[in-house]
Amino acid sequence: MGCEGCPLGGTPRVTPTLRPAEILAVGEAPGAEEVEKGVPFVGPAGRLLRAALEGMDVVYANTIQCRPPENRTPTKEEIKACAPAVQSYLDAVNPRITLAVGATALKALTGRAGILKNAGKLIVREDGRTVMPIIHPSWVLHGGDIRRFDDCIKSLRAWIHPRHGQIPDPHIRKATNRDHVQRRPLWGFDWETSALSRGKAASCPTPCPMAKQTWSCMGFRTRTRGSSCARTG
Ligand code: SF4
Repeated sequence: MGCEGCPLGGTPRVTPTLRPAEILAVGEAPGAEEVEKGVPFVGPAGRLLRAALEGMDVVYANTIQCRPPENRTPTKEEIKACAPAVQSYLDAVNPRITLAVGATALKALTGRAGILKNAGKLIVREDGRTVMPIIHPSWVLHGGDIRRFDDCIKSLRAWIHPRHGQIPDPHIRKATNRDHVQRRPLWGFDWETSALSRGKAASCPTPCPMAKQTWSCMGFRTRTRGSSCARTG
């Protein structure tokens, strides 16, 4: 498996329990808790990801099997040396979708950089496998915006179970303010009210980058008072 030339040779390995599954989540490298328990994604960040993916059919793994000293980012050589192990995970799990959890996994699985830019999008590899990069939960634990992480999980759930509501297009984003709405060519909104907040608009503009017309929101009001929206282009 290339361990002879790997600087991490001789250190304890953390290997996943392989089985066919719908999702293969590939992280960076095992941390101290993972090494202690011999299981990937069981440290604080791993628990956050497992909670977010609860109820889904997931096998958890890492880009490299051994822990780099002081939790440093794995080197190119280490990632290359462990690539056959990652390929063996893909072959054994044969997932519908592979989650590249964080920048290192994104680079290892697709050759791409830019996790924030690619998070929640679908990437099809040359071998036909579908990869979705997601924000690493450790980024959230270090103060990153949890909404970025949540958006990735929503995109994943929408892709896996499109009938459960979300539009299965990871390019569609939730707008949070008027400027955001106006930068997009078309937005849509959900105008229903819920039993828990009756009378309040549950509107949520969803800009659609594929549309040709330009619409702009003039304001949100409650259902009983109606809406005020106008096309601007
Ligand atoms: S990281 Fe992978 S290639 Fe390197 S020693 Fe560990 S198992 Fe072997």
